[in-house]
Amino acid sequence: MAEELSTQSVAYRSALDVIRAVEPRVADAIGAEVADQRASLKLIASENYASPAVLLAMGNWFSDKYAEGTIGRRFYAGCRNVDTVEALAAEHARELFGARHAYVQPHSGIDANLVAFWAVLSQRVESPALARAGVRQVNDLADADWDVLRRELGDQRMLGMSLDAGGHLTHGFRPNISGKMFDQRSYGTDPVSGLLDYDALRATAREFRPLIIVAGYSAYPRLVNFRLMREIADEVGATLMVDMAHFAGLVAGKVLTGDFDPVPHAQIVTTTTHKSLRGPRGGMVLCDDTLAEHVDRGCPMVLGGPLPHVMAAKAVALAEARQPAFQDYARCIVDNAHRLADGLLRRGARLVTGGTDNHLVLLDVAGYGLTGRQAEAALLDSNIVTNRNSVPNDPNGAWYTSGVRLGTPALTTRGLGAAEMDEIAALIDTVLTAATPATTASGAPSRAKHLLDPAVSAEVAARATELLDGFPLYPGIDLS
Ligand code: PLP
Repeated sequence: MAEELSTQSVAYRSALDVIRAVEPRVADAIGAEVADQRASLKLIASENYASPAVLLAMGNWFSDKYAEGTIGRRFYAGCRNVDTVEALAAEHARELFGARHAYVQPHSGIDANLVAFWAVLSQRVESPALARAGVRQVNDLADADWDVLRRELGDQRMLGMSLDAGGHLTHGFRPNISGKMFDQRSYGTDPVSGLLDYDALRATAREFRPLIIVAGYSAYPRLVNFRLMREIADEVGATLMVDMAHFAGLVAGKVLTGDFDPVPHAQIVTTTTHKSLRGPRGGMVLCDDTLAEHVDRGCPMVLGGPLPHVMAAKAVALAEARQPAFQDYARCIVDNAHRLADGLLRRGARLVTGGTDNHLVLLDVAGYGLTGRQAEAALLDSNIVTNRNSVPNDPNGAWYTSGVRLGTPALTTRGLGAAEMDEIAALIDTVLTAATPATTASGAPSRAKHLLDPAVSAEVAARATELLDGFPLYPGIDLS
């Protein structure tokens, strides 16, 4: 073990020395970033800490390669080593998730969703049009037929979870390309329980008859029944697409199984690789056999050239996720979220849906008399890093919000457990109880600024540091 520790330190110190010789400010910023990450209590639900093996797999000569195309069918010569890592990443993904096909080129979750949308459009709109015209590809269409097809591609419907209920911008909302491509309707949650309302979703689907139903979320703290979602999609002739960006680690770690595992139920599943899955920043698409050829057209249709260095890191991360230890990790993520939720509830906090079944907790801070923005800032003063988030029917809108989203994947990687989660709940409650809205120049309560006794923030920050000191981040890397 001691040998491994010193190997990692040597690797990183040498790498930083090489960078420092060219642009010392970059080397310093890298050093400062790891110091910041070590020092802060990170509850950002979408972040994690990738292993040194994953990080190192990204910083190498694969970065220099162009590799448009797919494994064994590239538009560039000299891609045999890229083929090796892309095939490894895809194989690990198929085995890990039990998927028929895996496409590991997307650069991010947004890109993966775009690949998936166009794969479904290609399968269900473009291919039938080509067949009707008796041609094999779009270049062979007569101009008049091409015009008709372009209009048809732009005239499709999508049903996605509302932003308010925890959906993601890429699920058909206007500021994102998905909202400009599709005529979109949303489904949401029950106003009383806060739980997904499947009956209302079914009724909307029957009436709207979307081409695609998107399931998945960024801020919904409960499970989604994907068997039921597929039943609804089949009933209305829609393709079920699941965006598991947030909870892919829980699927990989076999915490979400049966009706709650999207892979056996959805025709197409997208994910990021850097959240609960703990890999490099990136995206991925899994699909059934019927969509495989359409998904593989992702680059160059909507993606820039693949990032082979990131695909190498995806292969390493997916190999890690296939180890039995990853299943223990995934279970701990959920146990920790439960414990954090219980600790907050016991102290009188209000949680959207009253608790959690996954890796995240959505704390409604209106009860503390704060907006999400004020709560986020007060917690940051106290060395607790979170992000503000809308709650259903949020009176403060998407900028100020009334909620704070808390997630356990990162701290669980660090090794914090149930006892620490209870103490973190106490620290959060202490800060939010002490914080108050500042007043604006006109004397009204501000929605942006807060007041917090510096003695409270200093005491909480000191306790957070003490907690973290017991769980060193990257213990094998000494940069001092
Ligand atoms: N999908 C969901 C559900 C997400 O929560 C996110 C990111 O927060 C994304 C997609 C986008 O991922 P990326 O930032 O990698 O593009």
